[in-house]
Amino acid sequence: MIRDFIKPYIQELVPYSTARDEFTGDARVFLDANENPFPSAVHRYPDPHQKELKELVANLKGTASDGIFLGNGSDEAIDLLVRVVSCGEPGITITPPTYGMYKVAALNNGVGLVEAPLTRDFALDYGAIRQASQSGSRLLFICSPNNPTGTVYSLDQIREALDLFNGIVVVDEAYIDFAEAPSAATLRSEYDRLVVLQTFSKAWGMAGLRLGITFAARPVIDAMNKLKLPYNISELNQRYALDRLREPEVMREEVRTIISERERMSSVLSTLLSVERVFPSAANFLLVRVGDAERAFRYLQEKGIIVRDRSRELHCEGCLRITIGTPAENDAVVAALREVA
Ligand SMILES: *Cc1c(COP(=O)(O)O)cnc(C)c1O
Repeated sequence: MIRDFIKPYIQELVPYSTARDEFTGDARVFLDANENPFPSAVHRYPDPHQKELKELVANLKGTASDGIFLGNGSDEAIDLLVRVVSCGEPGITITPPTYGMYKVAALNNGVGLVEAPLTRDFALDYGAIRQASQSGSRLLFICSPNNPTGTVYSLDQIREALDLFNGIVVVDEAYIDFAEAPSAATLRSEYDRLVVLQTFSKAWGMAGLRLGITFAARPVIDAMNKLKLPYNISELNQRYALDRLREPEVMREEVRTIISERERMSSVLSTLLSVERVFPSAANFLLVRVGDAERAFRYLQEKGIIVRDRSRELHCEGCLRITIGTPAENDAVVAALREVA
């Protein structure tokens, strides 16, 4: 039962009820929330449940709006999931090298950490995942496409992890729009323990907005809604997102360009003397083994180009993570890395 994986006290919890929660229907005079009555863009409290925005997101994603939670970035969802799930005595399970926020969320909430590291070629280690489950861990984070490696896992691979792990499995799909692979959300009808995270920060170009989506079974969504701050998505954010989401063609066109630049960069970088290996990527970045990562990082920085040094991450010795930029920005990276050699 999905409810068995959620902390009992949260199921009992009565959340703060906002003035706008208790009102349904039509009204013209709002004297219920101690707002300033004189109009401006933001004089009213925003919809705490973001109904209009959720409807639009649900339509866009072909799912039901009551299976969606919207957060202040996926980072809010990650933090809430660590807090609502009974993670088990050893804590959450992560698969390093991976996104750093899962570990931060665990540490910040006094929850322990089990590591089920990826293999050297960045595949899921099913033996380690089974072991983590046997040790009592009840929350597993899988990132696909994975940050910082760019690896995408197939639906069969996600299914295998779900079958081996007795708990809630979160698949973080921050980069799914750059992948050819289907979303793990298609497995949600088979597994109510599956939670899928997506975000408007990457492909949609709204990192500055802070808006992340969680797709999950109702008991998980309900628990997250109980713990979230009442007005977690501001009025301006809701309205801006509504405008932008009405023109998905712009995003799709940009994504096409980024994908073709990723493929171009991957083959050009592979020919450079300073580059030992470019890992396959289904995201909007490339993990590139340059040997002396520190030196390459510093040289790029001198040229005014900032990339991410990931050389201290597991299995990422000598690696930089380079985001795909505009064609001109990408050319500048190639020129600089050519000079490093
Ligand atoms: C960038 C990133 C996020 C962050 O998402 P926000 O919605 O901006 O908080 C989540 N997960 C992964 C793997 C990321 O790389």
